[in-house]
Amino acid sequence: MHTFHLSGYPRIGAKRELKFAVEAFWKGTKAEAELQQIASAIRQANWAAQKAAGADLVPVGDFSFYDHVLDTLCALGAIPARFGFDAAKLTLPEYFQLARGNATQMAMEMTKWFDTNYHYIVPEWHTDTRFKTNSQNLIAQIREAKSLGYDIKPTLVGPITLLWLGKEKDAGLNRLDLLPKLLPEYQKLLRELANEGVDWIQIDEPILAVDTEQAWLNAFAPTYKELAITGTRIILGTYFASVAEHVNLLKGLPVHGVHIDAVRAPEQLAVFAEAWPENKILSVGAIDGRNVWRADLTAVINTLTSVAAKLGNNLWLAPSCSLLHSPQDLGVEEKLNPEIKTWLAFAAQKLTELGVVKQALEHGKAAVADAVAASDAAAAARKTSKLIHRDAVKNRLANLRPNADQRKSPFETRIAAQLDWLKLPLLPTTTIGSFPQTTEIRQARAAFKKGELSAADYEAAMKKEIAYCVDVQEKLDIDIPVHGEAERNDMVEYFGEQMEGYCFTQFGWVQSYGSRCVKPPIIFGDVARPTPMTVAWSSYAQTLTKRPMKGMLTGPVTMLKWSFVRNDIPLSQVCKQIALALNDEVLDLEKAGIKVIQIDEPAIREGLPLKRAGWEEYLAWACESFRLTSTDAADTTQIHTHMCYSEFNDILPAIAAMDADVITIETSRSDMELLDAFVQFKYPNDIGPGVYDIHSPRVPTEAEIEHLLRKALKVIPARRLWVNPDCGLKTRAWPETIAALEVMMTVTKKLRTELSA
Ligand code: GLN
Ligand code: ZN
Repeated sequence: MHTFHLSGYPRIGAKRELKFAVEAFWKGTKAEAELQQIASAIRQANWAAQKAAGADLVPVGDFSFYDHVLDTLCALGAIPARFGFDAAKLTLPEYFQLARGNATQMAMEMTKWFDTNYHYIVPEWHTDTRFKTNSQNLIAQIREAKSLGYDIKPTLVGPITLLWLGKEKDAGLNRLDLLPKLLPEYQKLLRELANEGVDWIQIDEPILAVDTEQAWLNAFAPTYKELAITGTRIILGTYFASVAEHVNLLKGLPVHGVHIDAVRAPEQLAVFAEAWPENKILSVGAIDGRNVWRADLTAVINTLTSVAAKLGNNLWLAPSCSLLHSPQDLGVEEKLNPEIKTWLAFAAQKLTELGVVKQALEHGKAAVADAVAASDAAAAARKTSKLIHRDAVKNRLANLRPNADQRKSPFETRIAAQLDWLKLPLLPTTTIGSFPQTTEIRQARAAFKKGELSAADYEAAMKKEIAYCVDVQEKLDIDIPVHGEAERNDMVEYFGEQMEGYCFTQFGWVQSYGSRCVKPPIIFGDVARPTPMTVAWSSYAQTLTKRPMKGMLTGPVTMLKWSFVRNDIPLSQVCKQIALALNDEVLDLEKAGIKVIQIDEPAIREGLPLKRAGWEEYLAWACESFRLTSTDAADTTQIHTHMCYSEFNDILPAIAAMDADVITIETSRSDMELLDAFVQFKYPNDIGPGVYDIHSPRVPTEAEIEHLLRKALKVIPARRLWVNPDCGLKTRAWPETIAALEVMMTVTKKLRTELSA
């Protein structure tokens, strides 16, 4: 038999029940007992779905009220002392305070889980961090599952990954040095689970899939030697990239099995299947846990049949990673194009696929002939579907003129041509695009979507907002105003809805952090832009002012990164298709007289492969795609881009290679730390490092902004420096927005006078 197991399932409920219950609990309108009941119902429904699909072992511990890394920290008593909580008696309200902060303590930090859009709570490590096992919560869930008759396999974040994921909060601390203190408690936790009759446990060490330093790799053998003696059998989980370089390390660890991701890194399967130890399980993740496409069952079954020939029953079957990153159930979608629907599989459907694969391996393909035929038919239809394939798009990309990604002239020539008509002062001022998305704006949009507001009335309402926004900027004396993006719900959805090749689900929610979920669009086909998307709004805004109105677009890499992307052609091609669609928009804006255009790429760093070896290739096509958006733009047209909330220091050459005329970039929260990198790397084009943080309603003081600007002036030539906030202002209210921009303008004018003296 080939054990079918999984490490995690979506936990917010098919209709986001957990989100609503948790938020009601925070507001005080739902009691804890009720919340616990809803949580239990979700767990039970998940286990039932897994069992019905044929899963042999169901996961426990994958459920979480907020985040599973935080849960592992709680299970080990590793919560920050600054909260003053008793880790052994942590209550649910206290648990939420760790994640969300309270009156005296800032929330624990949050950051992206590897290259997914899921955010985990970052462990805080101090020299005197203490660990103390607190397994109650996990054991309660284990008992719950066992009482319902399930064979279980709890999942935990592994000790080495847990330390690695955290931040050192004391100078001189190396967090790896905490391992000797952590290990006995981790061991104790496993012993307690063994006492509960837990036979198998999955311990995830995804750091094996990134570039891990040797010292961390060296920790594996001694650590797992200690954990091997606790009475549970361990499957060590890896995912998101190849771990082939560690095959010998993994073969030699005293664990009972290893899980590898054969979707992200199919090539590692051969490496592992060859001479795999006879006493170890190899769990192969051959169904994509992170994307929405139906598997090609024939291909999966063929691949696994040859692995099974070598490994026999030591081959286990699983999704590539936790299904947490996949929407829950395609079955509830009512509005998707039925043809497109046949190409998709969400978490529930992925389980069914795994069930079929298991049947095929154990009883032969004939036993699942119908399911395989349906999968073959879907795969064949997808290859030729008119919905997907647009010759015009493919031909355009295949026949790009040489150097199509290069502007007509180099930056020095362009900026001179731009300044000629823009007549900008020193330290030109602008904003990042969005202005407050007020309740009125959101209500108008909701009413329009429900059909309660006519298209004409909606347009009038948005125009009123735009007019107000332009007037505010006029009064503030901002050099390059924007229209404010009132008409946009979301910077990706807004464009996706107007492009061919994109579709949208009703319930395809995926947890982003805590109770926050996102519903990424699906790019299923060749992307084209049938008609202008932003020209009417920007042109209207331009009629209201003599200043050059800045048009606003979302860049190709961000459009790609915040969507589920088709897997039948390379990502780079999808990205370039989007770029060419955006190029059409750029040229139309230009024609309409909008000749300052910002193309946002906040997600450019998120696309970096987990291993550095893949960075160069990615950055090459990402930057090329960005440049393609402005191919054929006149020298006089000024292209801006914007990036935020990630480390840019190590990709500065790539940012320069995007060759935007102006880049605005978030830096104020780190006191312009980014600028240190500029001492070494002379960024050639214009740049606007953000001068205040837009995440707080607090109005910055003149002194603060002046401090930051003076710092910037030390490393950036004054004639290259722009002044702007860190990011878009849509989450702010009007009064603080105006007050903050007033301060920004006052300081700018003061420095201008000084510079021209
Ligand atoms: N133009 C967008 C805005 O201002 C940029 C958002 C972002 O950087 N995430 O809202
Ligand atoms: Zn931003």
